[in-house]
Amino acid sequence: MPTTATDRFPGSPAARIPVVDPATGETFDEAPDQQPDELDTVVDRAHRAWHGWRADPAARTAALHRAADAVETAGDELARLVTREQGKPLTESHAEIARTAARLRYFADLAPRTRRITDGRPVHSEIRWRTLGPVAAIVPWNFPVQLAAAKFAPALAAGNTMVLKPSPFTPVATRLLGSVLAAVLPEDVLTVVTGREPLGARLASHPRIRHVTFTGSVPTGRAVARAAAASLARVTLELGGNDAAVLLDDVEVDRIADRLFWAAFRNCGQVCMAVKRVYAPARLHAELVEALAHRARTVTVGAGLDPATRLGPVNNAPQLARVELVTQQALAAGARAAAGGHRLDGPGYFFAPTILTDVPPGSPVVTEEQFGPVLPVLPYRSLDEAVDAANGTGYGLGGSVWGTDLDRAEAVADRLECGTVWINHHAELSLAQPFAGAHHSGVGVAGGPWGLYGNLRPFVVHRPQGEQG
Ligand code: NAD
Repeated sequence: MPTTATDRFPGSPAARIPVVDPATGETFDEAPDQQPDELDTVVDRAHRAWHGWRADPAARTAALHRAADAVETAGDELARLVTREQGKPLTESHAEIARTAARLRYFADLAPRTRRITDGRPVHSEIRWRTLGPVAAIVPWNFPVQLAAAKFAPALAAGNTMVLKPSPFTPVATRLLGSVLAAVLPEDVLTVVTGREPLGARLASHPRIRHVTFTGSVPTGRAVARAAAASLARVTLELGGNDAAVLLDDVEVDRIADRLFWAAFRNCGQVCMAVKRVYAPARLHAELVEALAHRARTVTVGAGLDPATRLGPVNNAPQLARVELVTQQALAAGARAAAGGHRLDGPGYFFAPTILTDVPPGSPVVTEEQFGPVLPVLPYRSLDEAVDAANGTGYGLGGSVWGTDLDRAEAVADRLECGTVWINHHAELSLAQPFAGAHHSGVGVAGGPWGLYGNLRPFVVHRPQGEQG
């Protein structure tokens, strides 16, 4: 039966997860705390549904277009729930829902290509594509609906079925989404399960799951890869980032400061490919710090439902504690907060937008992913030094180069070891591009046709040419 976020469900209070509004710190809803042993039935049903779903590509295309329409129709309610449980400003939640519908439409119209191999042999060899089976998707709390769609749109378009597990911090909008989509998709093609760990671990290791597609942190990504090894399911891991923005000496600070600020602080810095470190030529460092600090001091911070808010709270208490810890470590090691540097008084998980300067390069706020509204700005003396530092953390999701001479900027961009690089921008993705992190930022390729093929396996047929029997 479809469920909605506001359904009451059976079970004792112990079988529910409280869901907190990060703007108030108070519980506003709940979700079922499903147990790992419940997954056998769910995955079996997804497996049965796969046989019908994979059989008719034209019906799939039509169903996914209906799904996109349904998401838009439910857009206001979905966006409101995203803001309640995640914290971001309502306009950004609406954008998240719009991208979800756009992604469904994009993949609805994408079909794998049958290709002929021509290698001179008198054989007609053809590459066709086969679906995989039930896919498990495990997603984080920073873009709960959009990142779920990044999983189910390509997987379902390819002809697989899916069991989707949102973060226990943000299960509510995803449950509503599951119910909205259940009304337009065949039964059990997409099932949302919610629960605390070890639900995800069991899902990743379930013997009937053929592909585990995970978005989240590097340590959990390792755990998911280990769990999936049990059944040798295919694994796609979209993991953390520690993106550097490298400014060149011809950059005009006034022109780029706003864009750079929002590249770091959108969604309160809780973006896998947010700018998480800035490297500025020593000559421009003070001017840049002041331009960013001015924005950090004056931006309107508040509840996402308040139309005046530009920056919401951190999503959850453990993440707030982590943001506070890495900030205090840096300050204790000699850094200076040009803006912020502390929690905000009052209810909710608010942290003052923070610009750090004089940060020792080995501080965790530089070498690790802070994932919050804190930005270290580091001066450099030579470009080689900046490029080495940008490439030096083990992450490799994205990066950017900012300057006036675009050819020179592109030459520097070419030296960044990451999956996507921007010039004078950051973190703007196309649905049609491959999305793949280098190093510890990921395994496999999502996005565009690569995302579709990542949910398929090649099937090759060789047939003699001009020969009977
Ligand atoms: P997380 O790794 O803690 O959790 C992600 C998901 O994994 C959640 O649903 C969680 O319940 C589940 N999980 C936890 N332990 C598990 C286990 N042992 N087995 C299976 N599943 C388990 O990440 P988070 O704190 O929710 O999200 C923030 C992280 O996600 C950051 O590192 C961020 O960079 C990353 N992220 C990456 C991308 C990307 O596309 N590369 C996008 C968004 C976020």
